[in-house]
Amino acid sequence: MRFQTVVRLASLALLSIFLLIGWVSVQFGQRQLNAEIEQEIVRAQTAYTVLQNELGQMLLSIADLIASDAQIKQLIWEGRKHLHAEGGGRGGPQTAMIRALLIQRMIAQWERMERDIDLRQLHFHLAPEGVSFVRMIALEHFGDDLLGVRPLVADVQRDGMARTGFEIGPSFAGLRAVVPIRAPAYSLQEAFEVVGSIEVGLSIAGHIKRLSASTQIGYGVLLNTDSRASNMQEGYQPPRIGDHYLLAASRRELQDWLHQQSLPEYAQRWQQFRISQENQTFEVVRFPLYEYTAHSKASGLPAGSVILWIEISPYLQEFHTSRRYTLVLVAAGYLVTQIMLFLLLNHSRQEWQIQLDESTQAIRHLSQQHALLLNTVGEGIIGLNRHGKVTFANPSALSILKYEHSALLGKDHRHTFHRLHPPHECAILQSLADGQTRQAEDQFMTADSLMLSVLVTVAPMEQGHCRTGVALVFRDISEMKAKEARLIEMATTDALTGVANRRCFMDQLKTQYERLIRLHEPCAVIMADLDFFKRINDIYGHAAGDTVLQQFSRITQSNLRKMDLLGRIGGEEFAILMPGKTVEEALPAAQRIRDAVEQAHIHADGQPQPIQITVSMGISAVSPRDTTLDAVLKRADDALYTAKQNGRNRIECA
Ligand code: GH3
Ligand code: MG
Ligand code: MG
Repeated sequence: MRFQTVVRLASLALLSIFLLIGWVSVQFGQRQLNAEIEQEIVRAQTAYTVLQNELGQMLLSIADLIASDAQIKQLIWEGRKHLHAEGGGRGGPQTAMIRALLIQRMIAQWERMERDIDLRQLHFHLAPEGVSFVRMIALEHFGDDLLGVRPLVADVQRDGMARTGFEIGPSFAGLRAVVPIRAPAYSLQEAFEVVGSIEVGLSIAGHIKRLSASTQIGYGVLLNTDSRASNMQEGYQPPRIGDHYLLAASRRELQDWLHQQSLPEYAQRWQQFRISQENQTFEVVRFPLYEYTAHSKASGLPAGSVILWIEISPYLQEFHTSRRYTLVLVAAGYLVTQIMLFLLLNHSRQEWQIQLDESTQAIRHLSQQHALLLNTVGEGIIGLNRHGKVTFANPSALSILKYEHSALLGKDHRHTFHRLHPPHECAILQSLADGQTRQAEDQFMTADSLMLSVLVTVAPMEQGHCRTGVALVFRDISEMKAKEARLIEMATTDALTGVANRRCFMDQLKTQYERLIRLHEPCAVIMADLDFFKRINDIYGHAAGDTVLQQFSRITQSNLRKMDLLGRIGGEEFAILMPGKTVEEALPAAQRIRDAVEQAHIHADGQPQPIQITVSMGISAVSPRDTTLDAVLKRADDALYTAKQNGRNRIECA
């Protein structure tokens, strides 16, 4: 792999790691931010719930305080009595008087509570009809029946239990508490009976404003336009903005959002979203607001929603700063690491380069040595590729084979110096096929078509685990082979006549004996001895005797088959081996030889007259019963002896 590629890959991996670190850090920061905001939201909602409960308790306490006032109890009891007496509804003068006394009794307290604690309603009703007796907020408005429209009042008058809840009435929507008023103890038969009830209502606007100021959390209450708020009296109806009545808002933002319609659509369940406005960002939570009646009905729909919002700009600011800081740190870390990595890789590259240079130097040195070896060695060295084509040849190979380098390079060995070798015996092809090293005597052909005997070593060449071809290391052994052939010839032939000598003949006899044993192939042996040869020597001289011996050999040889063997086994004694022939089958050949010898006129140097000779022969056959080779010869020799005895120039069979 190239250095630049290594650097690129390593840098890419490093960049990925740092990007991952950056991403994880940012994600972690984001999670932390979300967790902090979530915590703030929970805090805000808890504060709101606590406020609601506290206000409910406060309203109950106020109502209880008033309801337990003996004078109030008496006025209600009497008011109820007079109203009944005066026909119910708005009542008559007696009822009006009691009403005036009640108003007089409560007016100062009402005004104080209205001013100090945002009390919006103080309403006395009479039981059991739930008739409105005195409304402190609308003194001229009384006598109407409330049981049908005010569930809180109805429930309290029914069971005498104090209650609190959010309720929308014609003149007021807000938190209300209703407590029963019981008859005074002296009223005898009605003593402690629920004679009426007091309802106190509170506007939560002021309270959530105060809560908002202390917590920095915005609170708002919206009423749906399809809720009972749409039936409120005009003077008491909360301002309508878009699709909502805005009952209360602790800060201005909510009005702005309503005007800009930036609140997302509400689906009457928990909703959390983010609103950005100029430089501020708010996390907003909206949850349903139920009327008191909805608590008693399982499927009650909310009358509106409570909205609370926290300005999260500082959190976001902090998050963004921290994110920027983290990213800068990660980027700096990446840069430093990248530089270090680059320096490290560069240093490694230099180290590698030094090692590479050393290795290259060593290889070059080795190559030079190899080249020197190849060029100076006496052996011919030829490289062949997997397809048997020449890839290189050293000078010795070219000189032995008399080829030009260009004439050999790229050529198939079977088309050049190795043309005549049958493929199935070819050591080169075998080694190319099986990758084994072989040594063989082979025949290479020179460029001028001269056959050379070579001793060749075929060694496979491999690169890694892949066989790339073979190397041939060879030398010309033609001369040695010729010498060897001459030596063999000298060792096996008779110098005078050129026929086989005794040792060679005996070797062949042994072979034939083995064939007989193994293959039951018969073999005849003829012993031949020239008649009165001593006389030839005596009359014509020893040299003429030699010529006679040579001519006898020639004549005999010319009357034998190729496979027969003539051997000179003594001075003028010869033996003939006839493989495949029985004694009877050998007899005609022996006759032919005897005739030919008798007919021959041998001319010897210096002799004016041709010399005539005869030969006697004894025939025997190699037998499986023979224990020695000499026994075979002895039988033939005995037959020869008989032939001599019987007058010579004849043949006898054993
Ligand atoms: P026979 O008919 O009984 O065989 O009589 P022969 O004279 O042939 O037999 P003998 O064994 O008495 O003589 C063989 C002679 O052959 C003796 C020897 O001088 C001669 N002789 C042996 N070797 C050679 C040789 O290499 N050259 C010559 N010229 N004569 C040889
Ligand atoms: Mg003899
Ligand atoms: Mg003789």
